[in-house]
Amino acid sequence: MTIRREQMVAALANEFHIRDERVLDAMQTVPRHRFVPDALKAQAYRDGALPIASGQTISQPFIVARMTELLELDGSETVLEIGAGTGYQTAILASLAKKAYAIERHENLTREANTRLSELGFRNVVLKTGDGTRGWSAYQPFDAILVAAGSPKVPEPLVSQLKVGGRLVIPVGERQKDQRLIRVVRTQSGSRQEDHGPCVFVPLIGDHGWGETQQ
Ligand code: SAH
Repeated sequence: MTIRREQMVAALANEFHIRDERVLDAMQTVPRHRFVPDALKAQAYRDGALPIASGQTISQPFIVARMTELLELDGSETVLEIGAGTGYQTAILASLAKKAYAIERHENLTREANTRLSELGFRNVVLKTGDGTRGWSAYQPFDAILVAAGSPKVPEPLVSQLKVGGRLVIPVGERQKDQRLIRVVRTQSGSRQEDHGPCVFVPLIGDHGWGETQQ
């Protein structure tokens, strides 16, 4: 598995142009196969999304690396992830920041992610079940927020829970097949947005995302 992980990281650097060495190191260190269902372990280091429980997916390694790189973490940050799923992206964030908070709407996924992360020795992670589109006011403001599900718009509570200079990375699109990876940077006077290209994510369902039956 280590060799396959090395090949995955080499591809991230050479074919997908991930430049942040700390991100590449974290992807080399975190055992992705531990987050993938048993039947799919052989595919854990392919560059693709894979199905997990509750009809959700573990994101493709490239998009995990790209979104993490866009957060520009140096190890001092408090970060929030929305859509913890298996906890793989959470593990990458916890490896690169001081403290990682993560919210997942499916209770069974939160529970399993929690178990996995503590088995792997992560002590700087706190997970909860809930609607992440509202953010996590108890631990705000955040240096960085990563949303791992696609939203019709940028949820306002997440922008307001960022520090000035903080970064929010989120897939945004009115249609499932037409999502863009957006980075929002909080500024003194408000925020600015950058478009980082097309992406495909499962829907972000909540008060400031899609309605239960809308997507
Ligand atoms: N980061 C995950 C990817 C999970 S896919 C991983 O590395 O495995 C996106 C996840 O977002 C799904 O598990 C889905 O249940 C969750 N989700 C969707 N809407 C949400 C919301 N409003 N709050 C929290 N989680 C949400």
